[in-house]
Amino acid sequence: MSKGKLVVISGASGVGKGTVLGIMMNKRKDLKFSVSATTRAPRPGEREGVDYTYVSKECFLGMIERDEFLEYDSHMSNFYGTPTKQLEEIMAQGIAILDVEPKGAFQVRAKRPDATLIFVAPPSLEELERRLRSRGDTSEEQIRIRMERAAWEMEQSKHYDYIVTNDQVETCADKILKIIAEKAD
Ligand code: 5GP
Repeated sequence: MSKGKLVVISGASGVGKGTVLGIMMNKRKDLKFSVSATTRAPRPGEREGVDYTYVSKECFLGMIERDEFLEYDSHMSNFYGTPTKQLEEIMAQGIAILDVEPKGAFQVRAKRPDATLIFVAPPSLEELERRLRSRGDTSEEQIRIRMERAAWEMEQSKHYDYIVTNDQVETCADKILKIIAEKAD
């Protein structure tokens, strides 16, 4: 196993992880995003095979049975998983970036101790709630569920190799790129 080829990034909904990942991938072309399989429906603007591979529950359960996932978990009533074969393919081309929640991250670590686990934290839970509200498209009930989930995820952050606070997206992306460079280059 070569060190630094597998980077797992977690962070609560609303923390700005997608934007940070976008900046990182633009700056470093050998970063390859691991496209997860999910049973959730695509959101507006999301693309099949780019953001996720969208599959039915039956299909996902079949993949579990055939042991096709490095890790998988259910989250908000949907399944999400990292297909092993595809991950191996992208690791042959560069550094794999996995965007998975904490339970998945710990499954990856158990199977691949060479993985680097990075947690993207909001400046505070209050700030995260403010960001979730400012989106304007999230119901009070959804905000409550996401904040509970975020508090649990923050609690898990102590088990990560690194915690990077997203005060400002460019700075956060650069900090993560520095960690990756130290491991891989
Ligand atoms: P969303 O539905 O907002 O895209 O993602 C919800 C959560 O699922 C996020 O915390 C994201 O990191 C996580 N997630 C995405 N893909 C995977 C995966 O393959 N495995 C696991 N365990 N979690 C994932």
